[in-house]
Order: sequence, then structure tokens, then C-alpha cells
Amino acid sequence: MISALPDQLRAACKSFKLNEPLSKHASLAIGGPAEFYADVSTPEELIALHEIVKTHRVPVFFLGAGSNVLVSDRGVRGLVIHLQGVFRQAEFNGPVVKAGAGAWMPTLVKQCAEKGLSGIESLIGVPGTIGGGLVMNAGTREGVLGDVVDSVETLDEASRIHAVPKEALGFSYRRSQLEGAWIVSATLRLKAAERSFIMARIDELLRIRAETQPLGTSNCGSVFKNPDGSAAAQWVDKAGFKGVRCGGAQVSERHANFIINTGRATAQDVRQLMQQVQDKVFEKFGVKLEPEIKLVGEW
Ligand SMILES: Cc1cc2nc3c(=O)[nH]c(=O)nc-3n(C[C@H](O)[C@H](O)[C@H](O)COP(=O)(O)OP(=O)(O)OC[C@H]3O[C@@H](n4cnc5c(N)ncnc54)[C@H](O)[C@@H]3O)c2cc1C
Repeated sequence: MISALPDQLRAACKSFKLNEPLSKHASLAIGGPAEFYADVSTPEELIALHEIVKTHRVPVFFLGAGSNVLVSDRGVRGLVIHLQGVFRQAEFNGPVVKAGAGAWMPTLVKQCAEKGLSGIESLIGVPGTIGGGLVMNAGTREGVLGDVVDSVETLDEASRIHAVPKEALGFSYRRSQLEGAWIVSATLRLKAAERSFIMARIDELLRIRAETQPLGTSNCGSVFKNPDGSAAAQWVDKAGFKGVRCGGAQVSERHANFIINTGRATAQDVRQLMQQVQDKVFEKFGVKLEPEIKLVGEW
């Protein structure tokens, strides 16, 4: 019976909560409540939740570090799952790394560097989880997560964990076929390299970020995807949007493809500012800017 749903979810996952504010879990610090919210720490909890949501047809949204999402002010209907516990861990076996979907990418990059494993340095400044990184095929011009993936474990319809080979994952620019999947872990294949060389590269990449991005503000990274052959930031800047505000949302003065929450921004503020940018860039230059960030919840 649907009325028993919260009780069933609570029994499946001990950290289950009702009406959890998602602004606490998103890098923009914006977002209404999740109807149901679960910090999931073990595969057993995840499988139990999978069984329940299948039975009751509850919509599910996985929230990683919330660094690529704009959560609506009205919040999210259904269950929001956030992976913790064993899902944050990584196992190392020579050049092969199996990372839980909740593993924090910058930490994993450093762990790999310590072990003399190279291939994911480009992710050092990407403040997200492996799960989010897989869905987004996160990275930079230097390389993307999909480059080093061997396979990804997901929960299938029958609530079994099974490995999907890279060929079936459809990695492309800020996309993969994993959207909507229940991602559990990823197996990555890296290359041996000199530890000091990897560390120097990491320092260099972090230095460049500190110079070009509005670090220390509440933002969600690049708002728009780069159109073919050009940078979205360049079009936003050319259209005169640096520093432009809508309510509490503002296009960063430092990086035109970042929108920052100056303190009291709502999701509607950010969405309206995005629309203004898209309309003006199209009107002036005929360029269509496509959002990179995911708009989540009830609008
Ligand atoms: C300062 C800053 C700099 C950034 N720089 C970069 C950059 O250089 N390159 C880049 O690519 N991105 C960048 N980003 C954006 C963002 O960090 C990446 O897209 C990151 O991969 C998102 O990971 P996340 O864990 O925060 O995912 P979220 O934002 O929480 O979610 C993103 C998507 O992944 C899905 N998801 C997350 N976990 C799972 C799971 N276990 N199973 C199924 N689906 C899941 C979500 O449902 C959602 O659809 C930046 C963001 C910020 C704030």
C-alpha cells in the first residue's frame, strides 16, 4: 500500500529522511526538498530500495556531489539517493582501479597519483563523484573519465549488480548512456607513471583553475556546453553578460560560463538568467547554447 511507503523506505535504509532540503547537498546551495532522501551506505541497502521503488513505481534521482545540477525551488518528487559508506571507497590492483560510484574524484586522483597511476589527472579540479562523472563523462580538454573506463557496474531491473562494458556506455562530450542507471562502481585502467611527474601536473592544473574560475563561490561549474569548435564562455562574454544579475544569481566576472549564487539566489533566478543568456547569444550570434547542468525536480 502506498501509505506504507515511507515506513518501507526507512526499514530499507536507516538514514532515510523526509523532505530533506537539497540546497544542503548541491554546490550552488539552491534547491527545494526531496520528498524522500536516503544516504545509502551498502549494496544491501541499495538493493532493498531498488525493490521497493520498483514495486511502488517511485521516481528516483541519484545525487552525487550535486556539482552539476540546478535543483528546482519546489524540490524533487520521489526518492533522492546519495551514495556513501562503501560506495566511496576504491580498490587498487596494479593499473586497475575499482572505484565506488560515491568516490570523490579529486581524492581518487590523489590516491592514484600516490600510487604512481596516471590517466585521471584532468579530474583533479572536478568536484564530483565517480557516479556523476560517469553520467557527465566529466573532464577537460586534457581527458575525460570515459577515456579510462573499462566497465561500470549498475543495478539491473532484477536488482542484480552487473558489469556493463565500456563499448555499451556511449561516452561522448559530457554525455553517456548511463543517465537514469543505478551506478554502483567503475573499473578504470590507468598507466604507471613517475609520481613526481603526476603531482607536478596536478599542481599545474589546480593553479590554472585558481586563476580562471570563481573558486570559493557557490556555483555549478560550466553552465553551458561548448558549442562545436568554440567556448561557451566566449559567447556569453561577447553578449555582455559578465557580472549580469537576475535576483541572487550572477554571471561570474571571472568566468562567463559560471553562474554564481551570491547568497539568496533561487533556482528560478538561475534558470531565468540562463534563458536570458541563451536568448541573447542566439539573437546576436545565431549560436544555440545547450545547458551542461541538469535541471532537476518540479518546475
Ligand atoms: C567549480 C566546479 C568546476 C567544475 N569543473 C568541471 C570540469 O572541469 N569538467 C567537467 O566535466 N565538469 C566540471 N564541473 C561539473 C561537475 O563537477 C561534474 O559534472 C561532475 O562530474 C558532477 O558530479 P556529481 O557527483 O556532482 O554529480 P551530480 O551533479 O550530483 O549529478 C550529475 C548527474 O549524475 C547523475 N548521478 C550521480 N551519481 C549517480 C549514480 N551513482 N548513479 C546514477 N546517476 C548518478 C545524477 O543523477 C545527475 O544526472 C565543475 C563543477 C564545479 C562546481
